[in-house]
Amino acid sequence: MKSSELHQFYKKSQGERLEIIKQFAELGETDIETLKKTGAMDFGIADRMSENVIGTQQLPLGIAANFIINGKERLLPMSVEEPSIIAAASKIAGIARKTGGFAAEADPPIMIGQIQLLKVKDFAKAKKGILKKKKELLEKANTFDPVLVKSGGGARDIELREVKSRRGKMLVAHLLVDCGDAMGANAVNGMAETIAGDMARIAGGEQRLFIISNLAVHRKARARVVITPQALEESFAGKGTGLGGAEMIERILDVYELAAADRFRAATHNKGIMNAIDAIAVACGQDWRALESGAHSFAAFGREYGPLTKYCKDKKGNLAGEIELPIAVGLVGGAVKTSPVAQVALKILGAKSAEELAMAMACAGLAENLGSLREIAVRGIRHGHMELHAKNIAVIAGAQGKEIDAVAERISKEGNIKVDRAKEILEETREGK
Ligand code: NAD
Repeated sequence: MKSSELHQFYKKSQGERLEIIKQFAELGETDIETLKKTGAMDFGIADRMSENVIGTQQLPLGIAANFIINGKERLLPMSVEEPSIIAAASKIAGIARKTGGFAAEADPPIMIGQIQLLKVKDFAKAKKGILKKKKELLEKANTFDPVLVKSGGGARDIELREVKSRRGKMLVAHLLVDCGDAMGANAVNGMAETIAGDMARIAGGEQRLFIISNLAVHRKARARVVITPQALEESFAGKGTGLGGAEMIERILDVYELAAADRFRAATHNKGIMNAIDAIAVACGQDWRALESGAHSFAAFGREYGPLTKYCKDKKGNLAGEIELPIAVGLVGGAVKTSPVAQVALKILGAKSAEELAMAMACAGLAENLGSLREIAVRGIRHGHMELHAKNIAVIAGAQGKEIDAVAERISKEGNIKVDRAKEILEETREGK
């Protein structure tokens, strides 16, 4: 039986880790070679992807372990420079295994293309005219992307909105497009452009902008998890917190309520969620700026800016958490196919559709968020975070090679994870004290 539980993975060599992932995700030798290269993208590929390219930037690619999503064992690839993100998500996924892991779902991949119509005189007549021609307009939009239509996607509907602005009232059409397994920005932009002129003629106005909206309200993903007080308490075993699981849940709820009530806290709360979602996005070649934009605009959609997760205590005293946010991602298009590492990362994640990828990201976001709340509420964020940051501090202090682990271990043990202390320890070790 395939399991995403990885015991002491961090203690293994790169070769041993790759062998485990190879078995889990049934990777081939070429995939392993791609992962082994520290500079996996050659200049030619990079030069085609972007402009004025002079090199490539590197990030660590790690694996968040222990996930069960809708009953399936999943390893989640994450590319991120900040320590403790992968560990926190894996920790919560491990605790959640005891209650069956995460349940997730995703909406169909519908994106919005906005068409801005100006100088419209009679809004009611314009709207009536556009809706009367809806079928023809949708058919024409589809002519832009026969490949998308052939794969089961395409233009689905048109919605009309009146938007008041400082330059007068505008008619804004939303072209709803099923993007299939693509994120869809290029497809939607092209489809909107294809019908913008016709719409302007029908409305008796002038077309101006036609572009995708990143507030992808029709393309949300959701995930839920339940954590028992026992499992939570056990996760701190030996750490001397002096708290029972029920009290830990109360503290987590205290901390959560500040995010629900205060935008200053909600911003950081949501940043934590995006730590994991962006990390998977980068690993899998997704447009993380689009995800950021969608998440934060949704956090203030129809309400004051607030948290993207919700927590409560269920009847049995368990902690129940859920997340909902727009996740526009694809398995085709953009950088997905051009980045060799993204291809292998997607194989490891094992998503067979854009929806499956979105669901995994939602689960990771929820796990990450709960991981932070767990630390913040019980021990304070600096505790877990700084322990993992100790290696960076050791490097900043000038440690090299084996010195890094030795210095990091000592500053962690002392609970004094600071550069000046790391420097002192380094000097002592070098002087053989
Ligand atoms: P794309 O145009 O590269 O690829 C999508 C195309 O792949 C589809 O239009 C379709 O023709 C084809 N395709 C093949 N098989 C498919 C399948 N099974 N399902 C769906 N389509 C299939 O990429 P895209 O997804 O249209 O756009 C994503 C890119 O656009 C990203 O790189 C993003 O960074 C960029 N972008 C984003 C924004 C924004 O978010 N505001 C704006 C402009 C561009």
